[in-house]
Amino acid sequence: MMIVIMQPTASMQEKSGIVAWAEDHGYKVHLSSGSERTLIGIIGDDRYINREQLERMAGVERVMPVLKPFKIASREFKPENTRFAVGDHVVGSDEIIIMAGPCSVESRSQIIETAQACKEAGAHILRGGAFKPRSSPYSFQGLGEEGLQYLAEAREITGMPIITEVMEPALVPLVCQYADILQIGARNMQNYALLHAVGESQHPVLLKRGMSSLIEEWLMCAEYILSHGNTRVMLCERGIRTFERYTRNTFDINAIPVLKELSHLPVIADPSHGTGKWEYVESITKASIAAGADGVIIEVHPRPEEASSDGRQSLKPERFANLVRDMKAIATAVGRDVR
Ligand code: PEP
Ligand code: MN
Repeated sequence: MMIVIMQPTASMQEKSGIVAWAEDHGYKVHLSSGSERTLIGIIGDDRYINREQLERMAGVERVMPVLKPFKIASREFKPENTRFAVGDHVVGSDEIIIMAGPCSVESRSQIIETAQACKEAGAHILRGGAFKPRSSPYSFQGLGEEGLQYLAEAREITGMPIITEVMEPALVPLVCQYADILQIGARNMQNYALLHAVGESQHPVLLKRGMSSLIEEWLMCAEYILSHGNTRVMLCERGIRTFERYTRNTFDINAIPVLKELSHLPVIADPSHGTGKWEYVESITKASIAAGADGVIIEVHPRPEEASSDGRQSLKPERFANLVRDMKAIATAVGRDVR
């Protein structure tokens, strides 16, 4: 891939000239219009792109290869942060996005009760799994489409957009009918057929980090989604495997500033799976916002001891409400805002 950096004064005609040249030569084009100048990404086998010829074209300032293995996901390619609306909120802007809800949708009343409590506490987006990736085939697998229907009902009542996991390509169309955001779970981060399907869907995606994945591998997975023309991708740090066993996972706080440097995509922190114990969720939520995360996703359950999954790491609604108050203070301290 090459990036054509246009002069700040380049005209519309000059920009279209580059796009036409690239398309005539069989390349895909990705436009990124910044506040100062336009960057035109030319996607394809760049061994055959004639850099000198491009550099001589009208309105071009410079032509630069993208050296990183991830291209569309890289900040080189798109210096400005990616931002997009979900409901009344803008992910990737100066506001911190709060997603909350139970690990699993367990019943109609459970999801509605939890949604109302989360909304009241200040959450923006409702989470809840209907298709659950469980480590054991004997554990609760989720309510399936019935769970999606209850989520849609909870959205109807509270006005909160919903995020839910999709585990297989064949179910992407069904989950898209209900969900505002598709979640790709840690165990499926490198499920390329699934990445292809969610990329094609053009639905917003939250891509969780695989539990033993490098940041570079994770960004390559985001690249799969982006390469299908889906630009609305968020990256979610949810903790990684280390030698430490006291917590379920080790939340990699480093990933937040590293991703912010390498990529323009919004970064969401999951302190619930990142720690596995509700007592630590508050600290890691606050640390994530201070470190530059664009949002958080937190498990909340009205009666964690009765939860079908992840009760140990779920906050009760009262604690979650207090945490939202603290999040506001931290956000303000780092020049962000919780609305
Ligand atoms: C979840 O969000 O409940 C979940 C299964 O997360 P992860 O894929 O990060 O384990
Ligand atoms: Mn969970």
